[in-house]
Amino acid sequence: MDLIRHITEVSKMDPFNGGIFLLEDYDLDIARSLVQGVDVWLNTPLKPMEASGTSGQKAGLNGVMNCSIRDGWWDEGVSSLNGWAIPDSSEVSPQKRDEADSQALYNILEDAIIPLYYTRDLGRVPRRWVDCMRESIRTITPLFSSQRMLRQYDEQIYQPTIKRGGRLAENHFALASQIAEFKHFICENWSSVRVLSVDFREGREPFSEYRYGLGEGMIHSEVLVEVYLGAVWFQDVRVEAVGSNGMGGIWRCSLSFAAKVRQGVYLYRGFFHGTEEKWRQSNANVRVFPSSINFASEFELELAKWADPNG
Ligand SMILES: *Cc1c(COP(=O)(O)O)cnc(C)c1O
Repeated sequence: MDLIRHITEVSKMDPFNGGIFLLEDYDLDIARSLVQGVDVWLNTPLKPMEASGTSGQKAGLNGVMNCSIRDGWWDEGVSSLNGWAIPDSSEVSPQKRDEADSQALYNILEDAIIPLYYTRDLGRVPRRWVDCMRESIRTITPLFSSQRMLRQYDEQIYQPTIKRGGRLAENHFALASQIAEFKHFICENWSSVRVLSVDFREGREPFSEYRYGLGEGMIHSEVLVEVYLGAVWFQDVRVEAVGSNGMGGIWRCSLSFAAKVRQGVYLYRGFFHGTEEKWRQSNANVRVFPSSINFASEFELELAKWADPNG
């Protein structure tokens, strides 16, 4: 509320009077006029706060040029000709981010948007701008439409679900019963499952001397994980390492079964590109969770055991 009040006050100040408008009760009618009547659609939330940005899609397919941060749909939609992406500032320290974003925006305005818009031929038509409007319509319309959305729902969700439903129901629900029994068994036995140890063996990338020619190579660590599974079969779980990639996202790396240590205890093994210290810096940890090709989703049972990060 305070922010909106502030913008209202600023919009009434001398240099901005008549240049800034606040639209109340945004609805389909207002949206229709806007997407037909503006030249640039500016969208500047802080990454990763943009949920999608559908209004920019509607603008783009009406020939409005988008200028937005690389978040939501625009990260997928932007090309060098259909609009502008404000460079990512999520790595900049929080105190300096607004400053960096505004500088980046002014650079785009001065170096790209304004020259393109005001360069006109004898008939006063900004030909290159119009080419970009066409490019916006051409590239955005087929990709960001309800038609594409429905097709993807159909191909990726509805059709596979129908097929799976059919398989589950065959032979008096034979597969469904088998899955139910499996889940019941896992749930009964899951409480005793735990990660016993996570060990590192630092080494160098195999064959790196051939690849880099210097004999230096990249440091990699072999990650060795002992898991107590008790009555659970070693093929019915997945063991993986998970860590942060520093950009607000995560990386995941599957470990493969290496050996049976003793009754109910199994060894899994994988590779991590970096030292044990880098592993800690990326807040990496190991988890084990039930897995089956018959599950509809990876975490269908919502069960996982993590290694004790201090152990
Ligand atoms: C597109 C649209 C929205 C969504 O706008 P965003 O910028 O994606 O939040 C909301 N209201 C109306 C009327 C719209 O047409």
